[in-house]
Amino acid sequence: MKLVFKGHDERYVVEQGMLNLFPGEKPVYEPIGPEDDTWAVVTLEEDTRCHVTVELSWQGKAIPYTVSVPLEGNEFQREGQRRRAIGRCFFLAAQAVTGRTPPWGMLTGVRPVKLPTRSLLAGASPEQARKEMEELYYVSPRRASLAVDCAQASAAVDRDLRDDQVSVYIGIPFCPTRCAYCSFVSADVGRTLKLVEPYLDALLRELAVTGESLRRAGKTVHSLYVGGGTPTTLSASQLTRLLEAVRRDLPVEGCVEYTVEAGRPDTIDRDKLMALREAGIGRISINPQTLEDEVLRAIGRRHSAQDILDAYALAREVGFDSINMDLIAGLPRDSFEGFCRSLNGVLALEPENVTVHTLALKKGSGLMNRPELLPSGEETARMVEYSLELLGGKGYRPYYLYRQKYMSGSLENVGWCLSGQESIYNIIMMEELQTVVSIGGGGVTKLVDRAAGTIVRQPNPKYPHDYLAALDRVLAQKEELAAHFLPDQN
Ligand code: SF4
Repeated sequence: MKLVFKGHDERYVVEQGMLNLFPGEKPVYEPIGPEDDTWAVVTLEEDTRCHVTVELSWQGKAIPYTVSVPLEGNEFQREGQRRRAIGRCFFLAAQAVTGRTPPWGMLTGVRPVKLPTRSLLAGASPEQARKEMEELYYVSPRRASLAVDCAQASAAVDRDLRDDQVSVYIGIPFCPTRCAYCSFVSADVGRTLKLVEPYLDALLRELAVTGESLRRAGKTVHSLYVGGGTPTTLSASQLTRLLEAVRRDLPVEGCVEYTVEAGRPDTIDRDKLMALREAGIGRISINPQTLEDEVLRAIGRRHSAQDILDAYALAREVGFDSINMDLIAGLPRDSFEGFCRSLNGVLALEPENVTVHTLALKKGSGLMNRPELLPSGEETARMVEYSLELLGGKGYRPYYLYRQKYMSGSLENVGWCLSGQESIYNIIMMEELQTVVSIGGGGVTKLVDRAAGTIVRQPNPKYPHDYLAALDRVLAQKEELAAHFLPDQN
């Protein structure tokens, strides 16, 4: 789509709006010729108000649209008002020309729940927050209600947060094999086995330095999450070593939640599960993604659906009473019927948490070039609709939600739980309610300043090899954490 801007250069806002309603289009910044029929001219003019006009041409239809809003407050606030006016005007013109309203309306960000959470914390009722999503952002009633349900869980956690607490993420970026759709950082352990021990040694050093910094700053750990990759790629004794170091070196006296992603059943055995239980881990994830053997093969898993059921039974036998299971709607070679069978199969196990993801492919990934293997956006949307009906009907509540770019059908990922089984870490991390200190490869520390409304991001290197090479810098950054928390004393 050819894009011409007059009076501004708000590329990001317009490109996001374009991706939202014209997912196949790419932005082209060239003059519009008489032969072009897909283009937009976005004009901004200002006096005491900001006037935006979007002329949009698509498939022979051309529609002009105008939005005018007052400009108020300081320059930072006015900047936001201009951007929102441009985003709204582009959305309305695109909606008029295509006749489409995406499920999330004009919202294109990863964290749509932040809006209703903010409203609830400012005193709005759930009904008012829902109305705001529908009327100001054109979100469908179904999605608005989903977002407000999650916002209620988020606001409940937010009200109990204390300034002297942080959450901690520990990354284990190894997996037995790589899944075809994977967008996480994980090294195929077959090829990188020799790095696991040195990686663990380095991780324990970072953990010790982080613990010292947190104690110096008077911080304690509120919730702790070990993710990846697949943490249970580590052996039972390696898991014990890691979790003993957590207890010894981090200020976890008041930690209310410990989670380990066991992830793939081909990494789970009794010894590892016992090691996790003995270390006091309360929550684990066992992630089928699907219970269809053909789909498991298509995503590159080397295990069967029966292996998933066996791993789940073993985890119950060992004593885990809080288990999450992940499913993905829109996997290659899956169908609506297959997805329904998977979801019903998972629910028959009665896990405390179920997370339903929608497939999101990174640009250039192998699967993106094999669209014939993927269910259509409409079929994926039917899968997600089915999950909303079924999970709600079985007593599960949505409690956290996020979106990704290039997500099939422009949908979302939703964490569901039985009453009282919310993962505090998931809410904190997704809604950026509290500082999360990340240790190990692939994690991003987010230093959240709630009073100032700012977030400083400090990514660790992604891959095990790069992490090991950069360890001195990583350790220095963790030493400086105390100074960050106690700026007046430095
Ligand atoms: S198990 Fe998860 S992290 Fe590992 S390769 Fe598969 S999708 Fe990626």
